[in-house]
Amino acid sequence: MAGLYLHVPFCSQRCVYCDFYFVTTQQTHAGFMQALCAEIEHYGHTYGPKEPVETIYFGGGTPSLLHLDDVARLLRTIDDHFDTGGVQEVTFELNPEDVDVDYLRGLRSLGVDRLSIGVQSFFQADLDFMNRSHTAAQAETVVGLARTAGFDNFSLDLIFGLPEQPFEYWGANLEKAVRLEAPHLSAYGLTVEPRTPLHKQVERGLVTPADEETMRERYLFTMDYLRARGYEHYEISSFARPGQRALHNSRYWEHANYLGFGPSAHSFWWTGLPAHRWANLRNLRRYEGFLAQREAPLDFREALSLDDLANEYLMLRLRTGDGLDLAYFAERYGADLLFEKADELAWLESEELVTQSEGRLRLTDNGKTLADAVTERLLMDGLFEPEQ
Ligand code: SF4
Repeated sequence: MAGLYLHVPFCSQRCVYCDFYFVTTQQTHAGFMQALCAEIEHYGHTYGPKEPVETIYFGGGTPSLLHLDDVARLLRTIDDHFDTGGVQEVTFELNPEDVDVDYLRGLRSLGVDRLSIGVQSFFQADLDFMNRSHTAAQAETVVGLARTAGFDNFSLDLIFGLPEQPFEYWGANLEKAVRLEAPHLSAYGLTVEPRTPLHKQVERGLVTPADEETMRERYLFTMDYLRARGYEHYEISSFARPGQRALHNSRYWEHANYLGFGPSAHSFWWTGLPAHRWANLRNLRRYEGFLAQREAPLDFREALSLDDLANEYLMLRLRTGDGLDLAYFAERYGADLLFEKADELAWLESEELVTQSEGRLRLTDNGKTLADAVTERLLMDGLFEPEQ
């Protein structure tokens, strides 16, 4: 079962921290829509017959800048070229200022059954700092609108660790999200990515990012706070009420196949070795130009060996609450971690950064605060070198 991702590369303005691909100047979506439909058709011919679709995800950018007719056209094009009879989840990212109840009802009637709402904070000062285009009042109102329109499955995105954000603001953000009974929360620590306005502000000394200890404290607090209120911490940044995990993202972490459409979108396909990953160009004009010529708008395409896949799977699974099933890892990827990394594992366990139980390896809370560094220690080189 495959996942489909559609990247809608339009935003009304630029949030200071964002390094996703988007444009803020596009007046019309006609050229993009034509290109996106052509791309879906193109891949549908090749991959449509191979696997039925399980999940569809509209991300961006800002999908809620699309007209409902365009959303309908995209879903129709997918239906025409893929087996969608077994689709279990259709997620749509939106920004609070874009939608009213009619728009949301329209999405619902088209088959969208899950929303991912870019709230980020319920405080105006935070939103102003981030250059978000919605207000604190809109951040709250949108949840009621979603429920009125029939969405009981939705996620709120929140960001912690803004420079000089008082701890009370973050605590109050979590409290409000819980009071709104959000079934799912994504809590991201603010990072300063290259080539973002925030990066420039930091370089010029206009902004001082929160220090490591502050980020760590906020994250540990978030884990404790949400778990105590019935949320499963099922992935580094993801918290869900029981039964409300994001299916689409969960499949990424299982190394399931997915196809990404739209500029900058990534795809992954593994049926035999090597597996393949490819990404589209991060340029809307060129993306449209290639598709107008009936050519794939590729930025790169790479083959992945079993070594590559094993290390990637290790990284993906250690981010999850369910952790890495060691027997499955050995069977599917040929990698015996207990043997290959015995010393590192013993050290990580003694430092209480990982635990093993029921055949699974998981990060501890402490380990989650250092996830990249812990994972780095367990990556394997030359697993499958031919014997001499
Ligand atoms: S709305 Fe989302 S995609 Fe657009 S700039 Fe802001 S964070 Fe980035």
